[in-house]
Amino acid sequence: MNCFDCASLGHPVDAVAVCADCGAAICHDHAHVAPHWLSRTAVINRTVRVEPPARMIRCGVCQLADDAVQAIRHGATA
Ligand SMILES: [Zn+2]
Ligand SMILES: [Zn+2]
Repeated sequence: MNCFDCASLGHPVDAVAVCADCGAAICHDHAHVAPHWLSRTAVINRTVRVEPPARMIRCGVCQLADDAVQAIRHGATA
């Protein structure tokens, strides 16, 4: 399988991962690796992060979209 983003630019490059959000195959250059915390629910419905974090691999498009959501979330709580 080839990288979706590289193929869009006319360069067939072997993919090394699959975006966790959109499912596009991506090469190493186009892969964004971010920590992804699994959570458990503690007493009184409190959500607690479980260490260590798992891994989340996204393509550039989905990483940008997630960054935008995180920025809105942090802006809303500030
Ligand atoms: Zn690529
Ligand atoms: Zn994606």
